[in-house]
Amino acid sequence: MKFIDEYRDRGLAEKLVARIHHQSTKPIKLMEFCGGHTVAIFKHGLRQLLPKTIEMLSGPGCPVCVTANSDLDKAIALAHLPDVIVASFGDMIRVPGSYSSLQWAKAEGSDIRVVYSAQDAVHIARDNPDKSVIFIGIGFETTAPTIAASIRQAEQAGIKNYYVLPLHKLCPPIMKSILDMGEVDLDGIICPGHVSTIIGSYPYQFIPDDYGVASVVSGFEPVDILLTVDMLVNQIESGQPQVEIAYRRGVKPEGNQPALEMMNSVFEVSAANWRGIGTVPASGLKLNDQYQRFDAEAHFDINPGPVREPKGCICGSILRGVTRPTDCKLFAKTCTPEHPVGPCMVSNEGSCATYFHYGANDDG
Ligand code: SF4
Repeated sequence: MKFIDEYRDRGLAEKLVARIHHQSTKPIKLMEFCGGHTVAIFKHGLRQLLPKTIEMLSGPGCPVCVTANSDLDKAIALAHLPDVIVASFGDMIRVPGSYSSLQWAKAEGSDIRVVYSAQDAVHIARDNPDKSVIFIGIGFETTAPTIAASIRQAEQAGIKNYYVLPLHKLCPPIMKSILDMGEVDLDGIICPGHVSTIIGSYPYQFIPDDYGVASVVSGFEPVDILLTVDMLVNQIESGQPQVEIAYRRGVKPEGNQPALEMMNSVFEVSAANWRGIGTVPASGLKLNDQYQRFDAEAHFDINPGPVREPKGCICGSILRGVTRPTDCKLFAKTCTPEHPVGPCMVSNEGSCATYFHYGANDDG
């Protein structure tokens, strides 16, 4: 506990806040890429502690939220096939697709299991040899190595009824895409902590080099985030954008090589469809030739039908940092965590759910 307490130390936090106030002289925009950071910032009321010169925007770092309806519809169509068990992380179950959700499919009789890891799905496949078990593979570079490991595990164990719907996404390419779109004039990016434990900090070097934007990898405790903001302000005020790590206890510049090797042994880089952004080249992962037989989309014949977006939902522009949940006319009215209209209100890391739970008034 002592370890965590240090990163929640009030005195340290106050010193950092004072330093940020002292050195921040010009208006700047910072984006926290990761939904986990958004939650931590709101939970600890950090936006209210920062000077008015600093505007904080939330980014697309919520894997459930960025899963496009067209991909979600594929998962629902797979769940309707006979003799299929769909295994998924919990949040995905409640996200409304074009016409239904996995939760609805379950109510209609589909066999859908909530799992905590891809390994759990492999065990379900092992225990149900007369069924096909399909794991809905969402997530960023943090989860991709574990899903790759599940595929290798199934192969080694001779489990032939395990499949993955590969919807994985990569962080640096979508950061580049957001910077290229130029809709939000960013001065600095709070880079994701968990993703960076896998990929390291080197892949962010294009951010200062090509865009002149400051970048710091952050942990998730209040002192981590305040230190990150302090480092970003320092880079911006001194006119020397670079890549720094404020989360040294979790992230090495070179990342986690064994995890990357595991990921790259099973997946190859591909285009991916992002909610609110569209198809971005080289921003996702698909199974490589050696592991094609595990690809659920290639193996099963499905026709999810035309894609429909939830009427009135502005999740897409929220994920790009262009709008805020409170800009949505449905926020906290027809759309609540109990009755979500879009994914940003479903996921624990979704901006709309975070604003709802921790107070839209905290939006500094
Ligand atoms: Fe979509 Fe609901 Fe968020 Fe509005 S409040 S953007 S409907 S998830």
